[in-house]
Amino acid sequence: MKKILLLLTVVATMLSSCNKVPISGRNQLNLVSDSEVLQASLASYKEFISKAPISTQAVQSEQVTRVGRKIAAATEAYLNANGLSDQVKNFAWEFNLVRDAQINAFCMPGGKIVVYEGIMNLVSSDDELAVVLGHEVAHAVAKHSNERMSQQKALEYGGAILGSIIKGQSQQTQSIAAQVFGLGANYGVMLPFSRKHETEADDMGLVLMTMAGYNPDCALTFWQKMSANSGNNKLEILSTHPSDASRIANLQKKIPQVKQQFAAYLPKPATTPTGTKSSTKNTSKKSSTKKTGKKK
Ligand SMILES: [Zn+2]
Repeated sequence: MKKILLLLTVVATMLSSCNKVPISGRNQLNLVSDSEVLQASLASYKEFISKAPISTQAVQSEQVTRVGRKIAAATEAYLNANGLSDQVKNFAWEFNLVRDAQINAFCMPGGKIVVYEGIMNLVSSDDELAVVLGHEVAHAVAKHSNERMSQQKALEYGGAILGSIIKGQSQQTQSIAAQVFGLGANYGVMLPFSRKHETEADDMGLVLMTMAGYNPDCALTFWQKMSANSGNNKLEILSTHPSDASRIANLQKKIPQVKQQFAAYLPKPATTPTGTKSSTKNTSKKSSTKKTGKKK
């Protein structure tokens, strides 16, 4: 009886400790607050950034910052318009390009996004860069790190978790953070996200880049290029889950849906999916309601 009561209490606590992911609408376990996650992750991020060689490619660095900020602004506008501004109230967006040939990018909680120079070799337009940054911004907004820490907490502390939820025992949080963000101040900063998180980041990223005025068709061309270049890497953005084939199949299904749902944001016809210079013109959002560029 006691056990059943405890189980019921745990389940009730879990249910009340849920957060709804914006855009996807999925319920996620949320046993750690933003402030706990940020406290645990910011030190790791700062250590990484202080030691990482920041790129000296001025044009590419500017491109990363510009496209990143545009996506962050569109994301915040959407959240504000939907009464969800609380979701990013502790965020301070940062977009950094680091000098490293790896084909990689990652995000840390609170909107800290790092892009490696290596991935820029596969990026031929702002729209394709928006695929990368939309995906990373989505991980941040969906609070996948909070969820992963919550899952670890639930796994490791089981019944004892109740106390920690109520009192927010920082010792436990710190030790979980050490696993989740297990840095060592070197590369390979984060463990790969789960397949579910990757697919959600792909889906939300499509929406976010579209709302920022970029062409979602480029997600397909970009991931096809990534697939051709991925080899056996297990970096965050290339993490083997989802497989390239399932990721591309998912995008082929989702792109037409996003284009239909967010038609008002679609770029003007001048932007071609593989265009190299035309993507910065997408300044007007609502004037264009034409569903141009449909490929199906
Ligand atoms: Zn990812």
